[in-house]
Amino acid sequence: MKSRFLDFRSDTVTKPTAGMLEAMMSAKVGDDVFGEDETVAALEQKLALMFNMEAGLFCPSGTMTNQIAIKCFTQPMDEVICDQTAHVYRYEIGGIAYHSGASVRLLYGDRGILTPELIEPEINEDNIHYPNSSLVVLENTVNKGGGKCYTLDQIAPIHHLCNIKGLKLHLDGARVFNALVATGDKASAYGKYFDGISICLSKGLGAPVGSVLLGSQDMITKARKIRKAFGGGMRQAGFLAAAGIYALDHHVERLKEDHAHAKALAVALARTGFVKSIMPVETNILIFEVAKGTAQKIVDQLQEKGLHCNTTSASTIRLVTHLGLNQSMIDEAIEIILHL
Ligand SMILES: *Cc1c(COP(=O)(O)O)cnc(C)c1O
Repeated sequence: MKSRFLDFRSDTVTKPTAGMLEAMMSAKVGDDVFGEDETVAALEQKLALMFNMEAGLFCPSGTMTNQIAIKCFTQPMDEVICDQTAHVYRYEIGGIAYHSGASVRLLYGDRGILTPELIEPEINEDNIHYPNSSLVVLENTVNKGGGKCYTLDQIAPIHHLCNIKGLKLHLDGARVFNALVATGDKASAYGKYFDGISICLSKGLGAPVGSVLLGSQDMITKARKIRKAFGGGMRQAGFLAAAGIYALDHHVERLKEDHAHAKALAVALARTGFVKSIMPVETNILIFEVAKGTAQKIVDQLQEKGLHCNTTSASTIRLVTHLGLNQSMIDEAIEIILHL
């Protein structure tokens, strides 16, 4: 029997639930470029309040929120410090160079997690030869680090270092709600540590489109203008913002289920012969290394049985859990894994 399409490729594949569609259909909208969409404004305010930041800006994608933040916080010839696995560096098409004219200093954290000890020596002295170090970007959770989380205890000393050295601190929080649910940290505590926070609504939260950038009032005023220059000013975007509001009200607590599902898959994988090692699972991302042969071969075999996932290198595979995968689908995936 051929199984259902079990889609573990990414948490971006979710489709709006019936409740979310209803919220979208009944949204009050206006022209947001004219500042007249009350649902967009409500979403921006809701997240700003939640994270104890002054203001928010709704954008079409997480790439756009990150790149706008980087443009706000740098000048051409500046340098951005981030981990070598960072989405802003690897998966945003060299946007740091293209949009901001800045260079990048790559650090090698443990599964993408940076520390003040790693960052401090890489901050340039004032010297005619050196780019000006102006921004540190953290990612929480770390996608390429197998969904590893920063805790606030780890973020606070990085903020302290940036503060005394005069660098801005931006969070690529594409999956920050997964981190909050896993660590038990409070969203409201984030506001005092970050100058910018980028949050995806279209990942684990299950909205079809959208990310929100948070920052100070001044920063968001500047960001709004940069968004327009990037072609990201949207008109009746309240239909999409309504999905985001619905997701924040209904899909945050349930992220725990995705995390439990990812852990159950890891237990199953550990019992098979084709897995060499598994990155400890903290959230909804599971990355494992294959014991022999290529990762692509295992991906093809899994796909043949209905389990869809992707490689992350020649020898590693990523599975991502999300609200489109319920318990019975996870059980089915575990059967496929155990009998591959
Ligand atoms: C998905 C993702 C983004 C943004 O991606 P978009 O597809 O542009 O919304 C940013 N950072 C990380 C870590 C991500 O996983």
